[in-house]
Amino acid sequence: MVSHLLKNYEVVVIGGGAAGLSAALYSARRGLTTILISPEIGGQAGTTFEIENYPGRGFVTGPELMMDFKLQAEASGTEFLLTEAVGLEKIDQQFLVKTPTENIPAVAVILAFGLTPRKLNLPEENNFLNKGLSYCATCDGPLFKNKIVAVIGGGPAGLEAAEYLGRLAAKVYLIARADKLTGEEVIKEKITANSKIEIIYQTEIKQIIGEGQVEQIVISKKVGEQIEEQVLKVNGVFVKVGYLANSTWLPDFIARDEKGQIITNKDTETNCPGVFAAGDITDIDYKQIVISAGEGAKAALRAYQYIQKTPRLGTDWGKK
Ligand SMILES: Cc1cc2nc3c(=O)[nH]c(=O)nc-3n(C[C@H](O)[C@H](O)[C@H](O)COP(=O)(O)OP(=O)(O)OC[C@H]3O[C@@H](n4cnc5c(N)ncnc54)[C@H](O)[C@@H]3O)c2cc1C
Repeated sequence: MVSHLLKNYEVVVIGGGAAGLSAALYSARRGLTTILISPEIGGQAGTTFEIENYPGRGFVTGPELMMDFKLQAEASGTEFLLTEAVGLEKIDQQFLVKTPTENIPAVAVILAFGLTPRKLNLPEENNFLNKGLSYCATCDGPLFKNKIVAVIGGGPAGLEAAEYLGRLAAKVYLIARADKLTGEEVIKEKITANSKIEIIYQTEIKQIIGEGQVEQIVISKKVGEQIEEQVLKVNGVFVKVGYLANSTWLPDFIARDEKGQIITNKDTETNCPGVFAAGDITDIDYKQIVISAGEGAKAALRAYQYIQKTPRLGTDWGKK
């Protein structure tokens, strides 16, 4: 691990999703020393079972597509470090990307750390993580074969999770806060046709209960003008209540909007020269794999241009 401290990377890419992996591919192919840091590889796309709109691929699963992204970035010379970025410092013309274990010097930085699943914000939520509570149905669904699960969220991600889990689990409660589901008609039809899936509308989750493992959830349901509490026995809870731009760890000198999204111009440049941003973490309108991939590639090409004009790092700079 210490080796990263001693090596001066020209480009540090933060994030292992479509944007980060594409940025790393383009950066390494330009001959720039490139490291990608991310706690996992695949990002949101890696959590979805069906992708049908990535050009040239027809139907492909998310994990399969993202593994191909990773292999291509690796083959081009990208190095990987499986950890999260916790800080970014600017020292003169250069940068120091901080992780819990080491600091990585860079001439240019590409921020591509996407969106993070929104939590329920229940006090006991973190205690049940990996003990029956999950934010990713594709990743953890197989653990709940023939078991009873609840999916929290009646939006597109909740529907997709319920549909997928409906193929594996014995029973799926789909808990929706609104009085209708939001998402593609095709998925809605599949869900309503599956007798294993019970949709509970106008309902919120209030509590998760269990001795070291999820055993029950308490829900509150709107019935007419009344709110009724009910306890459901479940083995698992899948939280699909949206995604957040979690950029609070960035220093103030990187401009963000009110949602925490990084503000970029059409060339993926942030307000700080040498720091580029791409994909879902930016304030671009459309959050899609092909768009993140394109923006990642663009960020790397811009970083290459920037590096041509920037003095090289000294050999002991990372030790400061
Ligand atoms: C269930 C679901 C289904 C979808 N289906 C489709 C679809 O069919 N077609 C489509 O085009 N799009 C789809 N999308 C949207 C698409 O997945 C995203 O637009 C795309 O994956 C965004 O890529 P990204 O690289 O910008 O960000 P992300 O995919 O969010 O990747 C961010 C990466 O950064 C890492 N990271 C986070 N914080 C840090 C940190 N502090 N330090 C280092 N790394 C960090 C994460 O671990 C992750 O690897 C779907 C999304 C979801 C959730």
